[in-house]
Amino acid sequence: MQYVTTIQPVHSDNTVCKHPVTDTGEPNDHKTGCTGRSGYIARCSGCSWRRTSKAEAQLERLGDLHLRSHLNTPALATS
Ligand SMILES: [Zn+2]
Ligand SMILES: [Zn+2]
Repeated sequence: MQYVTTIQPVHSDNTVCKHPVTDTGEPNDHKTGCTGRSGYIARCSGCSWRRTSKAEAQLERLGDLHLRSHLNTPALATS
């Protein structure tokens, strides 16, 4: 089974920001009412794992490590 991690931007209260952003990558707060992005959240599609961070690159790394932990978990432990 293949799991993936999804990274999404979050506001300071950790709610996911789905507001459109400008060309510079900043939320267009004047038009959307966005409260601003304080960081990112990463979630696993296969379990309840999640991490928040200000750095997206760090979450990508943590996500990779987490997915590896799924692979390393023996699927069959019946012997
Ligand atoms: Zn927002
Ligand atoms: Zn997981």
